[in-house]
Amino acid sequence: MAVSALPADAIVQAETYYLPPPPRRGQPAQDWSQVPGAELVYRWAEYRLSRRVSVPTASVPDHPGLYARIDDGRWLAECDACRAAWIVSVLDPRFGCVECKRDWVPLIVPTDIPAAEAEALAQGLSRFWWHPDDPRNPYAPEPPIEPEPPVEPDPEVPQP
Ligand SMILES: [Zn+2]
Repeated sequence: MAVSALPADAIVQAETYYLPPPPRRGQPAQDWSQVPGAELVYRWAEYRLSRRVSVPTASVPDHPGLYARIDDGRWLAECDACRAAWIVSVLDPRFGCVECKRDWVPLIVPTDIPAAEAEALAQGLSRFWWHPDDPRNPYAPEPPIEPEPPVEPDPEVPQP
């Protein structure tokens, strides 16, 4: 896959961030076009972080999933085991962590990805978007506070 010129206003994700190393002189360039989006970070970590981590073959049982969010123009998710954050693929919604080397966890992505990206891009230079159900969303609307009914004096109790 030729790396197509991205529009300057695109949200970065795994497929556009974890790119193969530049080819060494006299050697063919690596082709990562067949690597699934969620697995790109494992290739990237090997040459950028000198960290060889096997791609998980299993999933964490019963994990409810981690929310993807847009942080400063990049799709990312934060590992709930070690707190490392990684740029993720919203097209291949699996989260693996090359820091703590855990198994796959489901990645929760918005049903309307272009709408979320448009919302973040509309913010201009700082581009953030949170899933409305993400418990860590700092912009989630507060639940409405029910007004307390005024306390009536209890007629049975003698008032001072
Ligand atoms: Zn981790």
